[in-house]
Amino acid sequence: ERTDKKAYEEAQKRLKMAEDDQKNMLPELRKRSRWEYLKKRESEKLEDLEAEIVDDEYLFSTEELTERERKELEYKRTIRDLAKDYKKAGAKEQEERKNRYYMPEENRRKEVPQRDLELEETPMELGGEQGRWEEERLKTASLSFGAKKEREQGMKQEQEKYQLILEEDEMIDFVTTAITMKGTRSEKDQDAPALSQAELKKQSMQEVRRSLPIFPYRDDLLAAIHEHQILVIEGETGSGKTTQIPQYLLEDGYTKGGMKIGCTQPRRVAAMSVAARVAEEMGVKWVTAFVLRTAHQREPVIIIDEAHERTLHTDILFGLIKDIARFRSDLKVLVASATLDTERFSCFFDDAPVFRIPGRRFPVDIFYTKAPEADYLEACVVSVLQIHVTQPTGDILVFLTGQEEIEACCELLQERCRRLGSKIAELLVLPIYANLPSDMQAKIFNPTPPGARKVVVATNIAETSLTIDGIIYVIDPGFCKQKSYNARTGMESLIVTPCSRASANQRAGRAGRVAAGKCFRLYTAWAYKHEMEETTVPEIQRTNLGNVVLLLKSLGINDLIHFDFMDPPPHETLVLALEQLYALGALNHMGELTKLGRRMAELPVDPMLSKMILASEQYKCSEEVLTIAAMLSVNNSIFYRPKDKVVHADNARMNFVVPGGDHLVLLNVKSLIKTQVSGHHFRARDVRDQLEGLMDRIEVEVVSCQGDSVPVRKAVTAGYFYHTARLSKGGYKTVKHQQTVYVHPNSSLFEEQPRWLIYHELVFTTKEFMRQVIEIESGWLLEVAPHYYKSKE
Ligand code: ADP
Ligand code: MG
Repeated sequence: ERTDKKAYEEAQKRLKMAEDDQKNMLPELRKRSRWEYLKKRESEKLEDLEAEIVDDEYLFSTEELTERERKELEYKRTIRDLAKDYKKAGAKEQEERKNRYYMPEENRRKEVPQRDLELEETPMELGGEQGRWEEERLKTASLSFGAKKEREQGMKQEQEKYQLILEEDEMIDFVTTAITMKGTRSEKDQDAPALSQAELKKQSMQEVRRSLPIFPYRDDLLAAIHEHQILVIEGETGSGKTTQIPQYLLEDGYTKGGMKIGCTQPRRVAAMSVAARVAEEMGVKWVTAFVLRTAHQREPVIIIDEAHERTLHTDILFGLIKDIARFRSDLKVLVASATLDTERFSCFFDDAPVFRIPGRRFPVDIFYTKAPEADYLEACVVSVLQIHVTQPTGDILVFLTGQEEIEACCELLQERCRRLGSKIAELLVLPIYANLPSDMQAKIFNPTPPGARKVVVATNIAETSLTIDGIIYVIDPGFCKQKSYNARTGMESLIVTPCSRASANQRAGRAGRVAAGKCFRLYTAWAYKHEMEETTVPEIQRTNLGNVVLLLKSLGINDLIHFDFMDPPPHETLVLALEQLYALGALNHMGELTKLGRRMAELPVDPMLSKMILASEQYKCSEEVLTIAAMLSVNNSIFYRPKDKVVHADNARMNFVVPGGDHLVLLNVKSLIKTQVSGHHFRARDVRDQLEGLMDRIEVEVVSCQGDSVPVRKAVTAGYFYHTARLSKGGYKTVKHQQTVYVHPNSSLFEEQPRWLIYHELVFTTKEFMRQVIEIESGWLLEVAPHYYKSKE
């Protein structure tokens, strides 16, 4: 009986510990991968145990132990030995796994560095104190970049000339911390002169193909694909994974009998650019399908490209494809990734072998700013000019976070170049971001004319998805735009945050493709070490899962809690998504897809938006609602103008104002500009055409309500009743969370303050602002969502 009681107590204790453990684990989970976390835990446990045993043994030597205590010690020793064996076995398994890696023969003979991105770093004592450390660094390695060469060669005059062009106090002081990103070429290789752009151009397309790092491994790669069902392919950006592998497969006969090779690309721009490139290499016309096609019948091979990006859809694909591969033994799965964390992919796909394509990279010198830069946009502009006037030929790549920043940066650069006139050589300024028209996008690949310098201002699309030849200098402000999701408020937002160290290193790597390069980081070395996360959190852990749940359910996957996620999303996010879909009527109380839910899943937009579109059927206003849906999905940019022209943008907005709310304004804008197709409006029309094309499939007739705003507003309410705010004495409060919110000053209802509102989204800038609001009547809520509002009363 006593042992029973003890066992019971023990079990209780363990349960409590497990609970605490889980609580502590959650935030940790989000920060680092679960895998890493468990590994850490494992070794900690063993250390604790060792310590306990040492204590017990000490006790044993000084006083007599009771029988029970002796047994306990015995038990601990057994556990420890087991744990040690376990650990050893783990290490052995790891070793075996490494041996299982398929390495190209040639590669085995040479000596190839294990990790391309290893940093060659002089040891630095941080002592936890930034100031002192940086001071020290400065003493040993202080030099303003650009001045280096001249100082070495004693060319003082040259330097003075630069200062006439750029005011000295405007220049940015960079420091080098003797950190260099190792090149991966052999010594001999590095001495060989890099090919100039003109020489590259002279090569025929086939010669270029043959010069890519992947080419020598073509046959080995095909043999490996033949041998294994699932293969992870790791290779530095630009080595030819995306453009060459599909062609190799085609040449090897995988498309016999009209079979198609499936390739997935997480980014629309990259998909188009790469498809165009492959078509050009093959001398054919190209077509791409921008739809997530899952479990398609008979593809012999599916390539999941840019796996390292860990976008939402890539992560979902991992789980689905892994499952499909189990019952379709004829399917080949290739997971292509940059040199980042490929071990994880291998683990996830049941220890699939990794095929490493040895990279070819020249060394990159890394520079940091002495002090943090307050305005990184301005700092980018100054750095570009600084490089342009002080550095030898070579193109520049600047990383910014989004369209607005990129446009602003390009404008500033052009303006300053105009001002400097013939004092400086020609500088070609080229932007690249997702919404840029494709003819503009193609420009970044044109070779730079002799005597000029090209500067490409890009989002992180140029980090790994696109390779631009000829880049020697990289400017990295260290930021990116990231989606983040608050499961409590259900608020999803795009925020500019510091990028991860992994990103920063990928960016730097872009500078060493054609010759030794330089990377200028617009942050301090201290910030790199201490303020950046190691890796980027996968999108699935920071996004609203409504769409994913709908998609998976429509594919017949009901048990989402046990879906094979590579990194599972936070539990509460999943629960919230289920709850929201239930409220929208897409799921029944058993969590199964309803007929409405099935139709919603057909539309490639957020669940609330698709509910709004479907509700327009009942209110006979689908014509108007489709337009609003299209405008909302590209809306951020509708009224955007560069900063100094903001007034005009506001005026432009005022011209379109109609009573009732912003959604109706959008409708009005659309009808007024129907003929002036340009830029964003073009995108909106594109989206609208796509949506309208899908109406047939979900059996919604496209009809107009002829100017009556009530049906339109009811349809909006049917989709967005979760986003209701009510005016009370203290201002607006959300109905769901009683959170204080404000109408955005940009809104047409800013001054009207109606009692009940629906907002499209909440954005947090200086306050929680509701953006895109529309006036409703409270009675409609019960009408559109009776099950949701009745239960609240
Ligand atoms: P990876 O997928 O391994 O990063 P890619 O197959 O995308 O490499 O690129 C291989 C090479 O093809 C690049 O180095 C670049 O020179 C060339 N390339 C790719 N896309 C284009 C393009 N749109 N225009 C011109 N050259 C391109
Ligand atoms: Mg690629």
